[in-house]
This record gives sequence, C-alpha cells and structure tokens, in this order.
Amino acid sequence: ERSRLARLRHTPAVTLDGERIELLANIEMPEDAPVALEAGSAGVGLFRSEFLFMGRGIDLPDEEEQYGAYRRAVEGMNGLPVTIRTVDIGADKPLEGMTQSELRHESVLNPALGLRAIRWSLSEPSMFRRQLRALFRAAAHGPVKILIPMLGSAHEIRQTLEQVALVQRQLSESGKPIGKVQLGAMIEVPAAALTLPIFLKHFDFLSIGTNDLIQYTLAIDRADEAVAHLYDPWHPAVLNLVYQTIQQANAAGRGVSVCGEMAGDPAFTELLLAMGLRSFSMHPTQVAAVKQRVLRADTRRLAGAVDIVLASDEPEKAWAEAQVAGGAPA
Ligand code: PEP
Ligand code: MG
Repeated sequence: ERSRLARLRHTPAVTLDGERIELLANIEMPEDAPVALEAGSAGVGLFRSEFLFMGRGIDLPDEEEQYGAYRRAVEGMNGLPVTIRTVDIGADKPLEGMTQSELRHESVLNPALGLRAIRWSLSEPSMFRRQLRALFRAAAHGPVKILIPMLGSAHEIRQTLEQVALVQRQLSESGKPIGKVQLGAMIEVPAAALTLPIFLKHFDFLSIGTNDLIQYTLAIDRADEAVAHLYDPWHPAVLNLVYQTIQQANAAGRGVSVCGEMAGDPAFTELLLAMGLRSFSMHPTQVAAVKQRVLRADTRRLAGAVDIVLASDEPEKAWAEAQVAGGAPA
C-alpha cells in the first residue's frame, strides 16, 4: 500500500482521454510546504496567510516577518507555483485582542456578513500594503500568485487594484528586488459569481471558494451545527454557480481553480472535470485519492450529463445514475 501510494505520487495526473489536471495543495504555514511536496502536489493553490496573523494578540507580523514567511513557502516548493491569499480575517477566523473596536462591534451579530477578508484589508490600507509589499518581494524568489478573498463588487476591485498599483510604485522606487505576480480573485460570494465579466476583466485567474460560496448562496452558516444538515454542496444553486464560473473563465482563457472542500472530495472529482475544471486545490491528505479518480476519469464521457444534473432537483442522484448509464469504470 505504501509503495503504491509512493508510485502514485510520481504519476502525472492525466485523465484516460489525455487531459492534464493540476492538483494543488492548501497550506496554512510555510512549514507545510514539505507536506505539500510529499503529497505529490504540483504547487500550492491556497496558502491561507491569516494563520500568520492568528493566535498572537495584537502583535501582528510586520513586512519583514511576512516577507520571510512567504519566501520560505516559495523556496520550500522548489520552483512550483505558490498562490498566497491575502488575509481572510474575521468571521470563523477572528483576531484575538483586535484593537479595532469596529471589528469587535461588527462581529457581534453576523460576523460572516461583516468586516472580513478583503473588506478588513481595505479598512486597514497600511496593513494591506504591508502584506502586498511582502508578497511582491517574496516573488523575487519563485513564482507567486496573489489571491484576494471575498471580493463582491467592482468598487472593491477598484480599491484593491489601486493599493496594488501603489505598492508596485513604492517598491520600484525603493529599488528592492521584486518578482512578477499574477493577481487572482476568489469567487466565494454569489455576487461575484453572478458578475464574472467584471472579474475576468481585471484578474489573471479565479479560484472558487466553495466553502463560502455554499454558505452565502444557501444562507447557511458554515459553523452552525444547528443548520449543518442544510449545508449542501449538491444544491443545484451551488452547482450552477460553480459551473458558470468554470465555463466563463475557460471561455475567457483565464485560469480557474476550486480551492474549497469540494476540490478535495473524491465524490466531486468527475463532476468538476465534466464541468471543465482542470485545476483543483485541496488539503494535502486528499491529493492521492483525487488523483486516483482523475486517472480513471474520461472527461468526454461524462460531459453530456452535466446539463441533466444541473437541471435536476436531485443532482446527486442524477449524477450517480448518469455514471452508471455512462458505464464509468468502477
Ligand atoms: C472557501 O471559502 O472555500 C475557501 C477555500 O476559503 P476558506 O475556507 O478559508 O474560507
Ligand atoms: Mg472562504
């Protein structure tokens, strides 16, 4: 079993019909890079940078500390691409001892709808620029992509791009070495998924955060046990938004990945492939299981079933039936 898994690690993720699939890892700290490599991932699709900020009170990391951490992650991946998400603070990832009383106030009633992620970064622009500077500097040491969480409107996109441009100017004046970065947006709010042309116009790539997309589409708090039975990745509304996002990004020639739990769940591998997804980012422990699915999948055979599944009021059942009818290998 061990040697079979070791062999699998070095097997390229290619489907039966020859489609090359990118399997990436989600990490929380630079020290996770060896784990991502060991799992056989082709890079990091989501480095949740907020973990550098959490559990340390108001002693937030400065530019140098962040630069060091991002650089370690980049160097640890030996030249493979590393997608680093700017802080997704707030909601289920609170900062203890925050000095901003606004944040504490907003958190009381409805933290998931409050000042979290890019909203928080834009409310603390010097903090945001500090992080962006560290990221551009880390990019001098290997391929870095910057990913912005929770964007929902053209207004936020404009403000974000202004900060990025300002940081690039500051850095080029300072003469510090920086690297080229690709800039991407998380699609995890229905408003974003329903206005994709705006996102495709301004960003190099998209990454679908299904964990939050499910939460916000279905109005189900992802952390609330009382409604956990209603948190349904198979809900047709969710599947339609995921499908539209993949299709429109592919049509525009932009990279698109899924980095929520759905990407690491083998039950969704074939469906996501059939929808046109070619890049998946997941917890390192899931890479082997998803790769096994990829190796046995034929993307042409199941593509026709997507429409049936999207129109069904029981998509999970419809998909299972389509696989049996399509003779998908066991
Ligand atoms: C998501 O929302 O799917 C996601 C990947 O981000 P997080 O789980 O960190 O909110
Ligand atoms: Mg999210």
